[in-house]
Amino acid sequence: MPISIVAGNWKMNTTIVEAAALASSMVGDLEEVNGVEVVICPPFVSLAVVAEVLRGSSVALGAQNMHHEVKGAFTGEVSPSMLATICQFVILGHSERRQFFAESDESVNRKIQAAQRVGLRPIVCVGEQLEEREAGRAEQVVAGQLRAGLEGVARVEGLVVAYEPIWAIGTGMAATPEIADGMMAHVRGVLSSVYGPEQASDVPLLYGGSVKPDNVDEFMELPNVNGALVGGASLDSASFVAIAHSAAEASS
Ligand code: PEP
Repeated sequence: MPISIVAGNWKMNTTIVEAAALASSMVGDLEEVNGVEVVICPPFVSLAVVAEVLRGSSVALGAQNMHHEVKGAFTGEVSPSMLATICQFVILGHSERRQFFAESDESVNRKIQAAQRVGLRPIVCVGEQLEEREAGRAEQVVAGQLRAGLEGVARVEGLVVAYEPIWAIGTGMAATPEIADGMMAHVRGVLSSVYGPEQASDVPLLYGGSVKPDNVDEFMELPNVNGALVGGASLDSASFVAIAHSAAEASS
């Protein structure tokens, strides 16, 4: 079984000063969490200062997006090699990127390959909209995102997949454990059909969507779930630490 991962996606929140303060407020407690890999993903402008706060700790740093090219005339973009100097992870294909910034499966695919080339671990987000679930198409949509995103990606090394049903993100309406576990089994099956069962079993599968301290246990005890991608609750030090502790207990 892969090591569980708990990642906090701060989205477009916190100034540089606030980010440093938030990271400082949790790093000590997160250090005491054993058996789970904890990742903090602040906004780009705060990566350097948060990296300093995390220096020497077991807490990893992640970015929330990146461009696929190494460098060049791409005004406003941040490249894989820039991130690789301070980050270990990068979130790719988050539904907010897909929805508000026209991120396509093809673009996610280029980014996954670029991340792997520089040794960044991609946390690849997949998930269906409510209408797609209601139309009975959830599994088809997620399988499509995964297959297209992983086209030509030869190895699963470093890969992390986060299943985040879009209707559960930031709504307070988390998926039921049955939905989460069923979809995770499906995701594992898709990975297995692409990479074979052995490699597929090495990929950590995270659930994301309104994870909070009071519901995290329901997800962490599911056989196919290896951690969580946490949005809103990762902006509260006590909540994020509690979630990380729950994940650690479930995986011990
Ligand atoms: C997310 O943004 O990835 C997320 C899961 O957000 P929230 O936990 O707030 O639903």
